[in-house]
Amino acid sequence: MSSITTGTASSADVVLIGGGVMSATLGAFLRQLQPDWSISIFERLDNVAEESSDAWNNAGTGHSALCELNYTPQQADGHVDISKAVVVNEAFQVSRQFWSYLAETGIVANPRDFITPVPHMSFVWGEANTEFLRKRYEALSQHPLFEGMEYSEDPAQLAQWMPLVMKARKPGQKLAVTRSLNGTDVNFGALTRLLFGYLASTPACTLHTRHEVLDLKKEPDGLWHVKVQDLRQNTQRTVKAKFVFVGGGGGALPLLQKSGIPEARGVGGFPVSGQFLRCKNPDIISQHHAKVYGKASVGAPPMSVPHLDTRVINGQRALLFGPYAGFSTRFLKQGSLMDLPKSINGGNLGAMLAVAKDNWPLTRYLIQQVMQSNDERMNALRDFVPDAKPEDWELVTAGQRVQVIKKDAKKGGVLQFGTEVVASKDGSIAALLGASPGASTAAPIMLTVLEKCFGSKLAEWEPKLKAMVPSYGQKLSDNLDLCKTLRDKTTQTLKLQDL
Ligand SMILES: Cc1cc2nc3c(=O)[nH]c(=O)nc-3n(C[C@H](O)[C@H](O)[C@H](O)COP(=O)(O)OP(=O)(O)OC[C@H]3O[C@@H](n4cnc5c(N)ncnc54)[C@H](O)[C@@H]3O)c2cc1C
Repeated sequence: MSSITTGTASSADVVLIGGGVMSATLGAFLRQLQPDWSISIFERLDNVAEESSDAWNNAGTGHSALCELNYTPQQADGHVDISKAVVVNEAFQVSRQFWSYLAETGIVANPRDFITPVPHMSFVWGEANTEFLRKRYEALSQHPLFEGMEYSEDPAQLAQWMPLVMKARKPGQKLAVTRSLNGTDVNFGALTRLLFGYLASTPACTLHTRHEVLDLKKEPDGLWHVKVQDLRQNTQRTVKAKFVFVGGGGGALPLLQKSGIPEARGVGGFPVSGQFLRCKNPDIISQHHAKVYGKASVGAPPMSVPHLDTRVINGQRALLFGPYAGFSTRFLKQGSLMDLPKSINGGNLGAMLAVAKDNWPLTRYLIQQVMQSNDERMNALRDFVPDAKPEDWELVTAGQRVQVIKKDAKKGGVLQFGTEVVASKDGSIAALLGASPGASTAAPIMLTVLEKCFGSKLAEWEPKLKAMVPSYGQKLSDNLDLCKTLRDKTTQTLKLQDL
């Protein structure tokens, strides 16, 4: 494959649309697997990582199901199902392996620039929730992926683990907490910038910021013709590509619809925006060092579980609480109010209406969240920080998520909360839709893109894939020795041993 650039028209082997963590991760994989392929990256904003991947646009949790209660639902018979938690944790181990490879090979000089060990805790109150957490702990702590998890109901122990949460708390409340020291905070914005910095330094890779992809079509020449607007010069050009990845975050759905591939038919999107309270008081920030996740309220989407999070951004400790959900018809934080209306078409209208009809608890939850006053937001925070004062906290707007709506033979349409790779049958285009568990699982999700789109190359690539992700092709939960070896190794390489 080769790269040709002639005047305003150009062609590339690979076009990556969007400068977020997903395009960055896929680009880094492809650069390692196929150094001779030309890669062109287009980002509509001034810089990469300014939408969901930026540090303050997400919560920076290295999602590995250590603390997120939504991955361990309680079944009707009372037992706690940990199967989803195992999948999420395994996926995060894949990301850890890839990031370790980046550190070992010097692509990332210091992993602590983007990943920091931060204990992950689940925190509940009341008899029923305590009973649930204890059962969850009993089920998880026996699994090697969750080794080292601790459980306590003892207020003195809890005060040691999370002093800010226990300070000024009324005595006599039934509380329970699990703690895992294997948790992390990840600055996905920093990771994205590091990866694009690396990509841009390699031959035959060009990163174009302030370039918006307007349209894309597969033409009879077998190539994707990608129409790009240079927002600085106000000019347009067409870039021909053998493979296109639509990594536009919330902007991926409209582009996927424009691609006209049959796999995109009937797919719709529902935007959910988020806000955090960010602590302004360094004294309070210094009193907390954990990601403490609670239980979601009834009707809340799974990613809206309240949590009090230590963040580490550019070497500085910070503290956030949230998220508070919101509603906007924008698909990107810096998108257009017309994004949602323009995405509705004859193909997805039925599914969208069916979802609206079937998801009344979610609608009610969103209305309640949008109507929330500052006092109500502070009261939600006080469940975690009982003596929180408004003057110590400021409201910040986080990124936009676009949940996927798909046709469903029985229900007409279903709302999905996971992440989904949509690829054409011939593997020449793939898009990433959805948001959760999100950036944490960028590496396994991009491996899925490689598998769906480059099936004929996988045998040739296998040794390199195994060098980047030693567990590639295996399930860690089926190979417990490998699981332990790799977790210990990545802990060392990513410098996660010192809390
Ligand atoms: C409130 C919130 C909290 C979250 N918390 C976590 C968390 O704790 N842990 C976690 O792992 N994940 C979390 N996530 C999810 C995570 O942030 C996302 O999954 C991830 O950042 C998505 O990366 P991306 O590359 O797909 O999208 P983005 O980072 O949004 O990047 C997409 C890029 O594409 C560009 N673009 C869009 N359309 C075009 C176009 N037509 N032409 C050119 N460029 C275009 C955009 O400008 C943007 O830069 C959270 C998300 C939100 C919103």
